[in-house]
Amino acid sequence: EQLLNVNGLKVNVEDREILHGIDLQMNAGETHVLMGPNGAGKSTLGYALMGNPKFEITEGSIFFKNKDITEEAVEKRASDGIFLSFQNPLEVPGISLGSFIRSALERRRGEKLRLWDFRKEMKKAMEVLQMDETYADRDLNIGFSGGEKKKAEILQMLMLRPALAILDETDSGLDVDAVRTVSRGVEEYQKNEKGALLIITHSTRILEALKVDYTHILVDGRIVETGDAGLVERINAEGFEQFYEQAVRMY
Ligand code: ADP
Ligand code: MG
Ligand code: MG
Repeated sequence: EQLLNVNGLKVNVEDREILHGIDLQMNAGETHVLMGPNGAGKSTLGYALMGNPKFEITEGSIFFKNKDITEEAVEKRASDGIFLSFQNPLEVPGISLGSFIRSALERRRGEKLRLWDFRKEMKKAMEVLQMDETYADRDLNIGFSGGEKKKAEILQMLMLRPALAILDETDSGLDVDAVRTVSRGVEEYQKNEKGALLIITHSTRILEALKVDYTHILVDGRIVETGDAGLVERINAEGFEQFYEQAVRMY
């Protein structure tokens, strides 16, 4: 069943066109990988899908669950089930990780949660991510290491169970052990066969243990190639250079 349908999406950032017409279709339960060189527009696509107003859609459309959400606000998209993990997660003093996730979950489900049920669910997710329980009571991301911030993002994803999770370089800057833990969290999310994933990544380490259905290569604001999981290995071996020419030919 079709979950996301992006058609001819053009996106401006500060009046400069960054995405020049993106087409992307995703079905429920699929995992798509988006790769591409620095500055290609990968994060821009993530923000545009999430509805960040800095990323102005000038042409094209985004349909989510067969509904046109092109003009919808971030909060609405979030409650509809789109989740974006940030490359640089926010630090929020005065709000604990636990209460942050709890109120997001209550907004999404439209009902109050019993603290005990919530704590139990959260404890389970934290175990998958090998996070100490005390993190739930710490201020959101304050004093968290890079790896702990990424784990906190994955924890949010596991708790919120979005229909579409977009992970923007959740694996970057992590050591081997942390990548493995994050990857285990993503695997856990994949077990929910309705949840779709868009993984934006530079490295392929996080993908090793994951099921990947499609790989897209974004160069200079255009998807220049789509393939299966095998495309990741080609990128590994040959890099992105081969695709620049393709991007030029598409002008
Ligand atoms: P990627 O994630 O593929 O590395 P980005 O989407 O971050 O690429 O950036 C694509 C282009 O958009 C770059 O040229 C970048 O400078 C520009 N850009 C992205 N975000 C902003 C912003 N907030 N303000 C100005 N320019 C931006
Ligand atoms: Mg980048
Ligand atoms: Mg980026």
